[in-house]
Amino acid sequence: MTATPPGADGEARKAELAANLARVEERIARACDTAGRAREDVTLVVVTKTYPASDVRLLAELGVGDVAENRDQEAAPKAAACADTALRWHFVGQLQTNKARSVAGYAERVHSVDRMRLVTALSNAATRAEREIGCAVQVAFDAEAGSVGERGGVAPDGVTDLAGAIGAAQGLRLDGVMTVAPLAGPLAGRPQEAFEQLREISTGLRTAHPAATMVSAGMSSDLEEAVRAGATHVRVGSAVLGRRPPLR
Ligand SMILES: *Cc1c(COP(=O)(O)O)cnc(C)c1O
Repeated sequence: MTATPPGADGEARKAELAANLARVEERIARACDTAGRAREDVTLVVVTKTYPASDVRLLAELGVGDVAENRDQEAAPKAAACADTALRWHFVGQLQTNKARSVAGYAERVHSVDRMRLVTALSNAATRAEREIGCAVQVAFDAEAGSVGERGGVAPDGVTDLAGAIGAAQGLRLDGVMTVAPLAGPLAGRPQEAFEQLREISTGLRTAHPAATMVSAGMSSDLEEAVRAGATHVRVGSAVLGRRPPLR
């Protein structure tokens, strides 16, 4: 076997990530163009879950500013390993209240706030860390009224109360709303409609909370639909980093 020159693997990976990023960037730009929206109104958040900190560093070198993770156990060491970069960390997964303190140590935004107890835990954690955490209410279009959906998220009828609690909580800032296209219920397989409903919820929310402008929607498979429906943040993982191994 020929010895690989030092750094060659990193260079190859960097080239691969650059090519993937360019393709995603082109998709976002085209979707903005089609929707008559300015490209700078949509922020790309690269979801780095299951990929190593070395990839996250390469993304930072390639100009990515925002990365997201969905599990604190994985996110905390990666954020620590990349502490010397200017990356902004977003948390987008289901969050247990006992992880709030850890998440408050690195995340600037939590997109997945879906219950009052989590608001309290994040508020306490942010206050203790002397930080402000931006929060989005995660809406689940497949949750029963008054309950939390299987993959997290509050049913649409619970958004107002939760948003009010975030807005009133010390250390927290209400940034907006988030959703994941539903896999069950009447909107399953219809991401465009789910994203449009999210946008309507966002519009309603902004009468009481004008600064809550973030609409976090769209992933690798449905970012065009999200941009068309008014998303301000798309969360893209596999289209940038490659297909993830099946869930562990
Ligand atoms: C993994 C994940 C994404 C990215 O999904 P891809 O299909 O890999 O683009 C977006 N949002 C959340 C909440 C995720 O967990």
